[in-house]
Amino acid sequence: MQRRKFLKNSGALTAGMLATPIIAAPSDYEKNQKPIDTQSNATIPIAICTWDFGNATAKAWEVLSAGGSSLDAVHQGVMVEENNLDNQTVGNGGRPDRDGNVTLDACIMDKDANCGAVLAIQNIANPISVARKVMEETPHLMLVGKGAEQFAYEQGFEKQNLLTEQSKKEWEEWKKTSQYKPIINIENHDTIGMLAIDEKGDIAGACTTSGMAYKMAGRVGDSPIIGAGLFVDNEVGGATATGVGEEVVRTVGSFLIVELMRQGKSPQEACEEGVKRIIAKNKDKQDFQIGFIAINKQGETGAYCIHPGFTYRTYTKQGHVNNPSGSYLKS
Ligand code: ASP
Repeated sequence: MQRRKFLKNSGALTAGMLATPIIAAPSDYEKNQKPIDTQSNATIPIAICTWDFGNATAKAWEVLSAGGSSLDAVHQGVMVEENNLDNQTVGNGGRPDRDGNVTLDACIMDKDANCGAVLAIQNIANPISVARKVMEETPHLMLVGKGAEQFAYEQGFEKQNLLTEQSKKEWEEWKKTSQYKPIINIENHDTIGMLAIDEKGDIAGACTTSGMAYKMAGRVGDSPIIGAGLFVDNEVGGATATGVGEEVVRTVGSFLIVELMRQGKSPQEACEEGVKRIIAKNKDKQDFQIGFIAINKQGETGAYCIHPGFTYRTYTKQGHVNNPSGSYLKS
């Protein structure tokens, strides 16, 4: 639905005349809007996420199909992976930093551009819930490290040891060589970024991760940074990222993709351009993975990555699908 502002011309309210509604000139965004293409994949409500996290999108769909908000859908959806001990790159059970500490990053953004984030928080299994509390209960957007942890306890969150036996064993193995090399495959990159549109047409997003395995203590990537790992503009759409966060931050990737959609690109075209901007800054070095997913206001989706192998989940009335993403490099 295109937004239109109707202003009453009170000056025209003279005897015998009806008030004439004046339609404000459409904004540049509105002028660029294409009519909904019924042949496209556009549909709402919808939940999408990075990678093949079917349980997470199923949870989000449960919320959306019961008439819930996109904010609740993305919050509850990504929490499924934070609580999944087998997922070693998100939440509880995440791989630790090089000192053996599990530090988590998360952010959330709603239809009104309200947002909250926690960075490098320890001992709390659901950083996305703390990020939402930051958004709703504080005048701030981001809380970091000890301050974030302290705030979580004040909000009633429980202290938990997040280092599982499996992650501890792998970290001890890693310490034998201590080789720090971001690896391009799924095993090391399964940050969950999720975007949803509810039946009212409102968009929200969430992103949560334990970051790069064996990172330096204190390192934070793109995932909890609004504009980099996640961005939502309820007028246009949303985008979120997975992969080597340093590279996503350098181009403010998710914000860029939303802005490209505002200028008229489809989610697919915008994701492709986002990846190409990163490639352009790394002409000699492409041995890292980045994957973007995006959604526009109509519910059309897109995804693109550097190396083949990235997929993204969509859940709509039409079904629940793991979609392959196109890639810049073909092998
Ligand atoms: N983007 C995350 C980070 O850089 C990592 C990932 O997606 O695997 O912290």
